[in-house]
Amino acid sequence: MTTLLQNGDAGYDEARSVWNAMIDRYPAAIARCHDTADVVAAVRFAREAGLEIGVRCGGHSIAGHAVPDGGLMIDLTPMNAVRVDPERRLAWVQGGALLGELDKAAQQFGLATTAGNVSHTGVGGLTLGGGMGWLARQFGLACDNVASYELVTADGSVVRASADENAELFWGLRGGGGNFGIVTSFEFRLHQVGTRALVAEFTYPMAAGFDVLRGWRELNATAPRQATFTANVTPDGVTVGYVWIGEGGDQLLPAFRALGPVADEHVEEMSYLTLQSRDDNVQGHRYRRYWKGHYFKSLPDDAIRALLNTPGVSASLQAYGGAIADVPDEDAAFSHRDTLFEFVTATRWEDPAEDATRIAQLREYAAGLAPYASGAYLNTLNGDPINRAFPPAKLARLTALKTAYDPANVFHLNQNIRPGEATGETAA
Ligand SMILES: Cc1cc2nc3c(=O)[nH]c(=O)nc-3n(C[C@H](O)[C@H](O)[C@H](O)COP(=O)(O)OP(=O)(O)OC[C@H]3O[C@@H](n4cnc5c(N)ncnc54)[C@H](O)[C@@H]3O)c2cc1C
Repeated sequence: MTTLLQNGDAGYDEARSVWNAMIDRYPAAIARCHDTADVVAAVRFAREAGLEIGVRCGGHSIAGHAVPDGGLMIDLTPMNAVRVDPERRLAWVQGGALLGELDKAAQQFGLATTAGNVSHTGVGGLTLGGGMGWLARQFGLACDNVASYELVTADGSVVRASADENAELFWGLRGGGGNFGIVTSFEFRLHQVGTRALVAEFTYPMAAGFDVLRGWRELNATAPRQATFTANVTPDGVTVGYVWIGEGGDQLLPAFRALGPVADEHVEEMSYLTLQSRDDNVQGHRYRRYWKGHYFKSLPDDAIRALLNTPGVSASLQAYGGAIADVPDEDAAFSHRDTLFEFVTATRWEDPAEDATRIAQLREYAAGLAPYASGAYLNTLNGDPINRAFPPAKLARLTALKTAYDPANVFHLNQNIRPGEATGETAA
C-alpha cells in the first residue's frame, strides 16, 4: 500500500534528499511504493494529474533525476527485497534495492554478480545504464547478467522482458537507462566467486607519473580477467593498482613494484563484501558533487600528458575489456564495449560559494582530455548530449523503442532518449 508524503509530513525531507547535496527540489508528492501494484497506481495517478514523474532507487544520479520539482517522485526504496536461489544461481531483486543488499544476499552462498563499487548505490539506475564493477571483466556488466525484467510501462501496464519475451525491449533495457518504464524486479544470474578479494595500490611521485602510467598501460594489455586495473591522478602524485577477485591475486605485485620509485604501497586482502563497501564513506551522502567522464579506446602518450596536467583536481581510470568486450555490440543497447579505460574526474565540497569554481575546474580538466575520448558512460553523463553514450545506429534503434513504449516521454527525468516518428514497433 503506497504511502503518500507531502511537504510537512514526517519523512518527506529525507525521501527527497539524494546523494548529491546540490539537488534541493520539492516534489508535490512522494509515492513510497511497496509493490508492483503501487507503482502501477502511481504512474496512472501522475498521468491523470498531469504531474511530472521522477523515479528513485538509490538516489545516486548526479543530476538528481529522481527528484521532480513540483512533480510526483515514485520512490521505490521500500521495494528492496532480494531473493536468491543458490542452486539455480539466480537472484530476484526488487527495483528499489541497493547494491549492498544484493551483494549481501548472494555472498551468503559465495555467489555474486557484477555490481558497482559503492554499496549504497541503487541496483536500478546502475543496472539500467550498464553497470560497471570489479566482476565485469570476468562476467560482463550488470546488465549483461540480467535474465529478465518486470516493469511498469508509461500506460500503466506490467510487462516482462527477457531474451524470449519482448526481446526488443529486453535489448533496450540492457543499457538504455530508465527510458522505457519502471523496473519493479530484476532477475540476475549469479556466479560462484568465493568471498575473497585483493586490492593493490602503489603511489609514485608526480615526476615519475608519465613513465608509471605508460608501464601500467602496457601491463593492462595482458592482465588476467580477475584483475581490474585502476589509476588515480591527484595533484600530489599517481597511484596505480588493481582489484583482484578470487585466488592468486598477488601474482601481479612484482610487476607493479617494478614500475617506478614506489613512495607508498598498500596491498590488502579482504572479503568481497568489504571490498564492495570500502569506498562507502568517502563517497558518502550530503556533499555537493560534480563529475565528468569519458571513455578511452586507447591511451596514447599525449592523453597521459593531459591526464597529468591536472588543474588541482583528481581523476580515476578503471579498466574495461575482458567479458565486457566479449558481448557482441548489437546484443544490447549498451555501447562502447571496446573501451579500454573509463575516465572520471569528480569532486566534493560543502560551501555553495565554491560551486562555480569547483565545476569550472572539472570542466576544464575534462575538456583537456576530450580529444582522446570516444564517448562516455550513460551513467556518468552530466549535462552531456545523449549521443556520447550511443553511436547513431544504436540511438536510432533506441528512439524507435522509446516511441513504441513511451511516445509521450512520460519517463523523461533520466538520460533521456526522446521519442521520434512512429516506427511500427508495437508495445506489448
Ligand atoms: C558513489 C557512486 C558510486 C558509483 N559507482 C558506480 C560503479 O561502480 N559502477 C557504475 O556503473 N556506476 C556507478 N555509479 C553511477 C551510477 O550507476 C549512477 O549514478 C546511477 O544513476 C545510480 O543509480 P541509483 O538507482 O542509485 O540512482 P537514482 O537517482 O535513484 O536513479 C537514477 C535514474 O535511474 C532510473 N532508475 C533507477 N531505478 C529505476 C528503476 N527501478 N526502474 C526504472 N528506472 C530506474 C531513473 O531514471 C532514475 O532517475 C556510481 C555513482 C555514485 C554516486
